[in-house]
Amino acid sequence: MNFNGIDFDTYFKHYPDENGYFGPYGGAYIPDNLKKAMQEIDEAYQTIAQSRQFISELRRIRKEFQGRPTPVSHLERLSNKLGNVQLYVKREDLNHTGAHKLNHCMGEALLAKFMGKKKVIAETGAGQHGVALATAAAYFGLECDIYMGSVDIKKQAPNVARMKILGANVVEVTHGLQTLKEAVDAAFDAYSREYKDCIYCIGSVLGPHPFPMMVRDFQSVVGIEAREQFVEMTGHLPDAVVACVGGGSNAAGFFSGFLNDPVDIYGIEPLGRGPKLGDHAASLQYGTEGIMHGFKSIMLMDENGEPAPVYSVASGLDYPSSGPEHAFLRDLGRVKYDVIDDEETIDAFFTLSRTEGIIPAIESSHAVAYGIKLAQKMGKGSILINLSGRGDKDMDYVLEHYGIR
Ligand SMILES: *Cc1c(COP(=O)(O)O)cnc(C)c1O
Repeated sequence: MNFNGIDFDTYFKHYPDENGYFGPYGGAYIPDNLKKAMQEIDEAYQTIAQSRQFISELRRIRKEFQGRPTPVSHLERLSNKLGNVQLYVKREDLNHTGAHKLNHCMGEALLAKFMGKKKVIAETGAGQHGVALATAAAYFGLECDIYMGSVDIKKQAPNVARMKILGANVVEVTHGLQTLKEAVDAAFDAYSREYKDCIYCIGSVLGPHPFPMMVRDFQSVVGIEAREQFVEMTGHLPDAVVACVGGGSNAAGFFSGFLNDPVDIYGIEPLGRGPKLGDHAASLQYGTEGIMHGFKSIMLMDENGEPAPVYSVASGLDYPSSGPEHAFLRDLGRVKYDVIDDEETIDAFFTLSRTEGIIPAIESSHAVAYGIKLAQKMGKGSILINLSGRGDKDMDYVLEHYGIR
């Protein structure tokens, strides 16, 4: 399919280019010693990860350990309630550990294993990426250092407990605001000292090349499965697909299955409390071009060009940028990016729970909320939503802050 001068038949061959660019976005803006480390990962990814042995091992793990393929479910009651549009969800909530994140963590850790590394390191904010990586490290018998700000350690006690039970070493970061940004810096520092023995596993389609490409490719299993399952169930393609966008990994993998199809694609960012800087994390909606954390994309920055403070009711979505590929797809117009605020999100959280018996993650509830709105607008057709994770982790928070609706 040709779209605005881009041939989506061959899109994955050309994007990113060999330097990691999706149009003007991406690249690797990092110190020289880390450039060598990233080149080593890129080379390993281009060779080892394309080998038959690696691919068949990853396939086996997905089936026997992660429980893939995850199903697609028809939301019959919700669809009936809304009218004539049929809504469906891809059930990443049923992936082991309860979200899509394990898809790329297992890929990254398997690559580390094949490369002969002893350790994986990463930062985590809300702890979801830390838990997924700690799970992968335990599975492969790798050491695992997770950098986390003191403030987040206190806020995310259950995830800290999970990481420790899984055998990870949670490294407390005590400087600055003691949250995600400081944790990223500390993890990068540690990596530049230890890169010979370990690899840095980035938690989304972010950071320097090759991570935005690698994480997308590892997540593309979601889109490939979803497309096949949907066509088998219904005999046709969905009219629209929807996913939430934080860093953008669940969306990138899910969308990759539909980029070359006549399907409308929607990426949903968190509007939080509103459009004022600091009240949301809708970088593609309100951001500008910039460089942070080793890559160029669209980002929310303060007047000094530093990452701006961001907020969302979904801690997994509050990052001040999104992956370079999303910035590119936005500019092309191939994906439409829109926003959903906290209130609409919490409504959707209860609606899906009550009408379908599925408690969604608050992150995923953004996509569900948009799917509901879109169904009302479309009047007929079908929508497939990526349910990136389950909401068990969010129940206490929702009840405490919003009560039962
Ligand atoms: C982390 C997380 C997200 C956001 O990350 P992306 O990289 O944007 O996919 C979305 N949903 C769930 C359930 C998450 O845990």
